[in-house]
Amino acid sequence: MTDAAASGGDLLITDIGQLVDPGKGAFSAPLEVVGDAFVWIRHGRVAATGPMVDLPGDATGTPVFDAGGQVALPGLVDSHTHAVFGATREHEFEQRLAGASYEEIAEQGGGIGFSVRDLRTRSEDELVLLSRPRLAAAAHFGVTTVEVKSGYGLATEQELKMLRVVARLAAEPKLPRLVPTFLGAHALPAEFANDRAAFVRLIVDEMLPAVATESLAEFCDVFCDRGAFTRDEAETILRQAAKLGFGLKIHADEFVPLGGTQLAVELGAASVDHLVAVDEAGIDALAGSDTVATLLPGTSFFLRLDRHAPARELANRGANLALATDFNPGTSMTQNLLLMVTFGCCFLGLTVGEALRAVTRGGAMALRRSDLGTLIPGAGGDVALFGVPDYRHLAYHYGMGHCAATIKSGEVIWRQDEPGSRFPA
Ligand SMILES: [Zn+2]
Repeated sequence: MTDAAASGGDLLITDIGQLVDPGKGAFSAPLEVVGDAFVWIRHGRVAATGPMVDLPGDATGTPVFDAGGQVALPGLVDSHTHAVFGATREHEFEQRLAGASYEEIAEQGGGIGFSVRDLRTRSEDELVLLSRPRLAAAAHFGVTTVEVKSGYGLATEQELKMLRVVARLAAEPKLPRLVPTFLGAHALPAEFANDRAAFVRLIVDEMLPAVATESLAEFCDVFCDRGAFTRDEAETILRQAAKLGFGLKIHADEFVPLGGTQLAVELGAASVDHLVAVDEAGIDALAGSDTVATLLPGTSFFLRLDRHAPARELANRGANLALATDFNPGTSMTQNLLLMVTFGCCFLGLTVGEALRAVTRGGAMALRRSDLGTLIPGAGGDVALFGVPDYRHLAYHYGMGHCAATIKSGEVIWRQDEPGSRFPA
């Protein structure tokens, strides 16, 4: 799968102060830093990288982007978001500050239920207008690829509407590359409160075939947890999804371990996401498996939980880790993936190098895209440039708008110095 044919840019990025490719090397190995470097992108793919003194002669004639000593990384990959939604939910943030828990708010009709009722009232055009600036803002943090889930429709036409919004925005060249995921099993909708089995059948018999027929999603995801779907329900849905050719993902072990992590590994899922409450059996399953453990420390932070996923143990046991924002209006209202790098270090115990690998190669692996999250020759020509003196400032000098320019497939999709570009809508 490549984007090069669709939008193949040529660009020669020169005078990079530090070129860092976390896509190379073992997860916990120190990062390799090349000083005074270039990245040459041809037809939207990386043609060569290295020190300026090794610049190939045939790069001459390529449009030049002078990095002016900035730090370059591969474009960051945010592999878990719910970026298409209608209304924001700042009122729930205040309720949580006053002591209400996420589950209490959900029981009172808030949470995902609020977003579902709201989204069902909105047109596809309206959702495109609302989602465009929210997705554009991800590029302000160096993000060039964003996974986006459905799951606020929870009825066939409503889920299709959400995924058509993603498809329309995915065609816009100035936005990050979008990877769509069908999450019909995000929550049990109110109208099925007394018939869980009927909703699972609706997903299996109607929603999944409809999404497949229109090719609207690459992945199918299920929320397997207390208050959501059981392990058996998740298995029924995911086995059908696999038959229809979807890649698989699971939200598991956010609140209690129900065996969703083991199920993800058993089914060869691309990722299992959250893992705050993962148990030893889950860690054993992930150790050395191809299923990526996607950790979402922004969610624990924003829900004011003092529990975090056991990232250090997972990394030591040889699990593949990704960090993502979980951007959504309820439990993680941010597009700032660099903040997750700092959280990965401070809350999860990762090194700076590990955290940067988790938002580049780790995110790409969670989307089964070996051509992203790295700058090896042949990779997608995605580069993020940061105005910092040293790459470690990306974690250390935290919460800042360090990104200076974001390049997708050799095309500049965002620059900090463009008038009016500094603060997202
Ligand atoms: Zn999620």
